[in-house]
Amino acid sequence: MNDLFKNLPPTEKIYETEGMTLEFNANVLACVPCNNGLYAIVLDRTAFFPGGGGQEFDTGFIGGSSITKAEQIGDVIVHYSETPAVVGNAVCSVDRAERIRRMEHHTGEHVFSGTVHKHFGLENTGFHLGTEYVTIDTSGPLSAEQLAEAERLANEAVRKNDRIEILFPSDEELSRLEYRSKKELTGQVRIVKIGETDTCACCAPHLERTGQVGAITIISAMPYKGGMRLFMLAGDEAIRELRRRQNALKAAGEMLSVKPNEVPEAVKKLRASFEEAGRERAALISEICEMKLSEQRKREDYRLLVYEKADAQIANRLGKEQAKGVLFFLAVFGQEGALRYVMKSDALDLGKLAPQVNGILGGRGGGKSGEISGSVGVPLKDVEECAAKIYEKLKREPAPALKL
Ligand SMILES: [Zn+2]
Repeated sequence: MNDLFKNLPPTEKIYETEGMTLEFNANVLACVPCNNGLYAIVLDRTAFFPGGGGQEFDTGFIGGSSITKAEQIGDVIVHYSETPAVVGNAVCSVDRAERIRRMEHHTGEHVFSGTVHKHFGLENTGFHLGTEYVTIDTSGPLSAEQLAEAERLANEAVRKNDRIEILFPSDEELSRLEYRSKKELTGQVRIVKIGETDTCACCAPHLERTGQVGAITIISAMPYKGGMRLFMLAGDEAIRELRRRQNALKAAGEMLSVKPNEVPEAVKKLRASFEEAGRERAALISEICEMKLSEQRKREDYRLLVYEKADAQIANRLGKEQAKGVLFFLAVFGQEGALRYVMKSDALDLGKLAPQVNGILGGRGGGKSGEISGSVGVPLKDVEECAAKIYEKLKREPAPALKL
């Protein structure tokens, strides 16, 4: 396949110097069928970016052929389509919305990374332009305050509306130039210079001026490999995301009857009162359980607590006392269909008897000698009958050796 393009002249890369040229005329030099059923189309000049440096390839049209992929093979840019293109002149167009979105993010990344480098001395060690956000990895940590300051300074650089210059320096000029680069470069190096903000080696298309980036925002950050992984949005998407968040905060504020900025404080209060209510509820449930069990105080066989709202914590706490002087204490709680049990005994080795208990309760579980727990398969209404069956079965079991 690669041999097919060997004799073709290098493709003129319009995207390298004119990022905003998205409609263009070109000559179709070759159109050949590929093994995967697609046609490979080569032009004399193209605005289709073939992908690279963390940015995806462009899609669009060459004449009537929809281009689904572009890649660089040697010096030639190859475009792929399901339909063949006619050799000769063709009107071509790059998918505008997607390319502008990518350039807003990509150029925004230059402005932000250049700012972080200039003001905080950190390198960009990784960049990926995804479909939802851009990730930027930095060589060192940034505090929340530093991050906010970097965002402010980057937006200040956007407002300066600097021209984005594309330079192709000679080896000598390059040796005198200070620029950011993620890897060792060979051949002609392309430098992207943005005023005093950034000088960086890069292969991708960019906007013409920083003002076109519109806005830069860091939506989240996390420590990553000794530095940070930052999630950035720029341009139209930054505004949209901030609007989405604004709306969410406004809706939360309306539910809490406070202004959007007061939501965190209101949620803090709500959470405290929710926790308090939870503690009160637990105390009430515990009290109800004790009342239910007080009716069984005189029993000498076993004690049974059946209450949906109880839980393992309550059962464990009450169980210690309730298991004294009887063969066992059994608590069944939870929702019908997902019932649980806790069983305690001072007289039986429940760890060994668990299969028999599980068999009667239709569930699964286990534990140690004096305490087992697990699931219950029988419906709530049958639990009382099951407990009697368990007693009948276990009362014949020998008592374990006394624990000293
Ligand atoms: Zn770039």
